[in-house]
Amino acid sequence: MLLAEPASTPYDLNFRLLGIPVRVAPWFWLVALLLGWNLTKVGDQQAMLLTLWVASVFLSILIHEMGHALAMRFYGMDSHIVLYQFGGLAIPDQFSSRTGFGSRRMRDDPVSQIVISAAGPAAQLGLALAIALSLKLSGFRMSFPVPYMESVISLQEGRAIDSRPLEFLLFYLMWSSVMWALLNLLPVYPLDGGQIARNVFSLYNPVAGIFFSLILSVVTGVAVAVYAFSRQDLFLAVMFALLAFSSFQVLQAYSGRGGYGP
Ligand SMILES: [Zn+2]
Repeated sequence: MLLAEPASTPYDLNFRLLGIPVRVAPWFWLVALLLGWNLTKVGDQQAMLLTLWVASVFLSILIHEMGHALAMRFYGMDSHIVLYQFGGLAIPDQFSSRTGFGSRRMRDDPVSQIVISAAGPAAQLGLALAIALSLKLSGFRMSFPVPYMESVISLQEGRAIDSRPLEFLLFYLMWSSVMWALLNLLPVYPLDGGQIARNVFSLYNPVAGIFFSLILSVVTGVAVAVYAFSRQDLFLAVMFALLAFSSFQVLQAYSGRGGYGP
């Protein structure tokens, strides 16, 4: 399953990064603002904190998509990046000069697909770890978004960062990177984890791999929805319920086509 690329608008921000075209749709900024609204309601500096939050989400998701795009380049595929209301997309260019027979074959190879899908979350986790380790090495403390990790790298000790904007910027960068990466690694379509699961299954069983990954996607999607609902996180619950349902529909269509069902 692939989400369609959103149409371009006159309000898009366009630029190139390391030779890769990037387009940011206006809805991206609006959703980032909405997501950060409650998180930044601390004290009387919400405008400043919201700005830092939006900048962090932008940087973090851009780094995620650059991970995918650079991995595709490694396998000889050109691509472009779109940031939009559901996050980001790194879209391979079908008719690029480098898309010859060789790279087309690469595109169907499960291992290169796994590397490409994992490169996005890995880039974000790498960024969060790099920030955490630089703070640690320069003697600063910071709360890490994952509680267990915080004690592993003992970030609780050290002196406080004396610049409040810098402290929040680094925290938001780490928080959005870790959360976005972990969320995307869940084996649910169309998230990166769903693509990874399909290709891992395909390594062992090329015929039934998609079928198994769809079942895993439905089960995980339902489990996350129930968990999120029990934590009263309605946004996450509805999102994963919808993803589980759409995987279920694909699964039905897939089995109906003469499938690989039990
Ligand atoms: Zn991704």
